[in-house]
Amino acid sequence: MSDLLDIRNLKKSFGALKATDDVSLTLRAGEIHALIGPNGAGKSTLIKQIAGGLRSDAGSVHFAGRDVTPLSTVARARAGLGRTFQISSLAMEYTVLQNVLLGALGQDGGVMRFFRPIMARNDLRDRAMTALTRVGLESHAAKRTADLSHGQRRQLEVAVALTLSPKVFLMDEPMAGLGASGSQRMTGFLDGLRSEAPILLVEHDMDAVFALADRISVLVYGRVIATGTADEIKADPAVREAYLGE
Ligand code: ADP
Ligand code: MG
Repeated sequence: MSDLLDIRNLKKSFGALKATDDVSLTLRAGEIHALIGPNGAGKSTLIKQIAGGLRSDAGSVHFAGRDVTPLSTVARARAGLGRTFQISSLAMEYTVLQNVLLGALGQDGGVMRFFRPIMARNDLRDRAMTALTRVGLESHAAKRTADLSHGQRRQLEVAVALTLSPKVFLMDEPMAGLGASGSQRMTGFLDGLRSEAPILLVEHDMDAVFALADRISVLVYGRVIATGTADEIKADPAVREAYLGE
């Protein structure tokens, strides 16, 4: 089986800083591939390069056998390459349901003046409500997003991503700011999600990473220093020295 996502030799510099420096990795059907590394290692930069929000200086992104490197974020999302939605992209003054609908259209608050026709589309509403139900937010659909707790906003981001039915999920720290029980709930949810679409998961919560990841890649100063199973990564001398601080 060929790799669904094939990242080849990606590079991105900010001035003299090499944020990602020749990164290659793959994502296979059904797997969770975790990307770990210290703060500033280049994880978020890499996710943005894959999703298309940040142009790469070099390298390519192949998705489902197709070179999507020249495509915009929206075109990549339409092709099924999941966008990561972050709390910062939620429209706080709008309702939970409205945010899911906007996300499903790949839009932001700017198109809200077209909202009546959008709300009238039952197919979109149904998809949005299904996504909200899956993340446990259905009873909050009519609430203002600003009135949600941090954990509920995280669930909402995931619901937005689900509505686009991506063939690949890109997630940048979905557990961040969740308490222990929230992290556990999200871990269970992601575990079930992998059968739908594989996940490239950037995550600091190592309990979650070790519980979920089929493979782990370790990024340090923009370079992948190791890729393997949890056991292989834990035993890798370069990882222990560079990352686990031994
Ligand atoms: P991580 O997500 O692993 O913590 P990032 O990808 O956010 O790391 O950042 C990698 C490095 O690139 C950091 O040194 C960061 O300060 C720098 N960086 C990230 N984005 C920008 C930017 N837009 N402009 C300048 N430097 C950036
Ligand atoms: Mg980051």
